[in-house]
Amino acid sequence: MKVRAQIGMVLNLDKCIGCHTCSITCKNVWTSREGVEYAWFNNVETKPGIGFPKEWENQKKWNGGWKRTDAGKLELKIGGKIRLLAKIFANPDLPEIDDYYEPFDFDYEYLHTAPDSQHQPVARPRSLITGQRMEKIEWGPNWEEILGTEFEKRKKDINFDNVIQKDIYGQFEKTFMMYLPRLCEHCLNPACVASCPSGSIYKREEDGIVLIDQDKCRGWRMCVSACPYKKIYFNWKSGKSEKCTFCFPRIEAGQPTVCSETCVGRIRYLGVLLYDADQIEIAANTPNEKDLYQAQLDVFLDPNDPAVIEAARKEGISDNWITAAQRSPVYKMAIDWKVALPLHPEYRTLPMVWYVPPLSPIQTAVEAGHVGMNGEIPDLKSLRIPLRYLANLLTAGDEKPVERALERMIAMRAYKRSQQVDKVEDLEVL
Ligand code: SF4
Ligand code: SF4
Repeated sequence: MKVRAQIGMVLNLDKCIGCHTCSITCKNVWTSREGVEYAWFNNVETKPGIGFPKEWENQKKWNGGWKRTDAGKLELKIGGKIRLLAKIFANPDLPEIDDYYEPFDFDYEYLHTAPDSQHQPVARPRSLITGQRMEKIEWGPNWEEILGTEFEKRKKDINFDNVIQKDIYGQFEKTFMMYLPRLCEHCLNPACVASCPSGSIYKREEDGIVLIDQDKCRGWRMCVSACPYKKIYFNWKSGKSEKCTFCFPRIEAGQPTVCSETCVGRIRYLGVLLYDADQIEIAANTPNEKDLYQAQLDVFLDPNDPAVIEAARKEGISDNWITAAQRSPVYKMAIDWKVALPLHPEYRTLPMVWYVPPLSPIQTAVEAGHVGMNGEIPDLKSLRIPLRYLANLLTAGDEKPVERALERMIAMRAYKRSQQVDKVEDLEVL
């Protein structure tokens, strides 16, 4: 057993209100500089939708991440010297600025200089690239919710991330939506680290945070292609790649990440996990995609197990970190209770940002009489977001773990509501 510690994050999607505060505070701290105007180490996407960069989930388009070869071995898709040489001159798999969106600011000056008119002037967007005022924005982040009336018109041009989305697109009575905040996954098996020809990307021994050594980076951008979550950004000014640092200076000072601290919905939880590094290759090589979620869980160790504690100490993991792992809400929600699930485990990088799937909207289930105040057995069919959709997002298509997570969330809600109604106090829960 080779015990390692990893810091991770759980996001409860039921509570995300899509306010983008996390993205803005992250940007103000980390990327409010020339060269990374378009970069959002943290972004919030509207789902179902194509996200940004556009269609990042379409792995065929970007040719990134890991794949299993015929020999059954896991290899990075962009490996090989010929491919490397080709990429030096023209990397075909890089997203371009239009795949993110055109960065803009508002023309606030116009509020003062606009001629008199019947209506109040509005600050119009001005492109940070051309400097011109933008009369019409063709596409942008979260456009799926903003340009609702154009759904039908645009249907034929969009690559949907799964068939359910295509079936219901434009049929308002059947539509559903949710927010998906995204950041670098600080993967246990990071494709970005494996792809870097300069060896500049590394995973920290002590906490698993993945960082780019800016002195070593030579701007190859293999990491941009390789990361299946498209969470590496190229700084056009410095000529180096950059990414989310999991706010490591704050973590080292015992503070939460900026996105967690400023989250309006209080949806984010941080915590330490202990895992067996010897199991990573086995988990990532799991043949059947639907088994990948379980394989990922099997990598983690019980921080209360005396044998694990002893092995962790031998590896030099401090008692502070072991205690943090024992108290970790990430361990509780992701590994113990299994209510938080990984994003696209089929990418095989073993992502360390976990999501509690949304029940939204619970009212439909309540109205249908399935989730009452007395904790009746829930009927998941009355939930609006299809299980299949969530399974494609969070468990490589296996609906069972999503069903289990939702049932536990429903049971917890029913229990808490019954407490409120009957004024029963359960000190163990409170
Ligand atoms: Fe690397 Fe991408 Fe994983 Fe982050 S999400 S560690 S950038 S492969
Ligand atoms: Fe969601 Fe919190 Fe970000 Fe608001 S700040 S969008 S609630 S994750």
